[in-house]
Amino acid sequence: MVEIVSRREWGAAAPTGALTPLARTRGVKVHYTGGRVSPEIVRDHDVCVQLVRDVQRMHMSGGRETRYVDIGYSVCVCPHQRVFMGRGPGRLPAANGPGLNAGHYAVLALVGNSGFTEPNDGIKHGIRDAIEYLRREGGAGPEIKGHRDGYATSCPGGPLYEWVKAGAPRPKTSSGGGAPAARLPELRPGDTSPHVVTLRRALGAADTTSKKYDPTDPDLAALVEAFKNRHGLKGGLVWTAECWDILNERRSS
Ligand SMILES: [Zn+2]
Ligand SMILES: [Zn+2]
Repeated sequence: MVEIVSRREWGAAAPTGALTPLARTRGVKVHYTGGRVSPEIVRDHDVCVQLVRDVQRMHMSGGRETRYVDIGYSVCVCPHQRVFMGRGPGRLPAANGPGLNAGHYAVLALVGNSGFTEPNDGIKHGIRDAIEYLRREGGAGPEIKGHRDGYATSCPGGPLYEWVKAGAPRPKTSSGGGAPAARLPELRPGDTSPHVVTLRRALGAADTTSKKYDPTDPDLAALVEAFKNRHGLKGGLVWTAECWDILNERRSS
């Protein structure tokens, strides 16, 4: 089951222009970031969210020579087996190189050329999930290739490319290299934590940047209260492990 992080959840900027429809492709091409990815990413899903936002900002501000109307990738996959919605299925990506975008959807793995360079099982499962999703929803064909197939680039880096060339097999470990929300700590009113930001984004708060859980803040507190009421949970405004679990299940359904 694919665990999608919606564009609203990761705080995507709206596209600045129309995206070209795409009915089907021959398959997918796998990419890496090409830069340094902090090893911290493995234990902090907020690093993933920030990185995807950075990539979108770079693409839309002309970091790839022209200003893209949106992030160039179809989807992005993090070490926690989450699939961030980029342009999505049914839309032409802008990442494979000139003339090569209609042939394959573009899947970015949050792996770098330094720091975090070896894809973990969460990433591998996530890429498999993304491929199945793009086949089902976007008419992706059977091919699984790397950016360097057909274009002169180091992308997607040695370790990831080895795995792609081997047919991108699902790891033997059970799926779920991630499910980060389930492992996130309880949040109490008054807490200051980066996970407050994760919660704000997940609940669709207006302010998606503050790390402070202010119980007098009508924005977050009201959303927490409404969520807990809806699911019949007790414990006032404390955001418990059970709350994270429910949020997780809702996201993956
Ligand atoms: Zn690439
Ligand atoms: Zn993550």
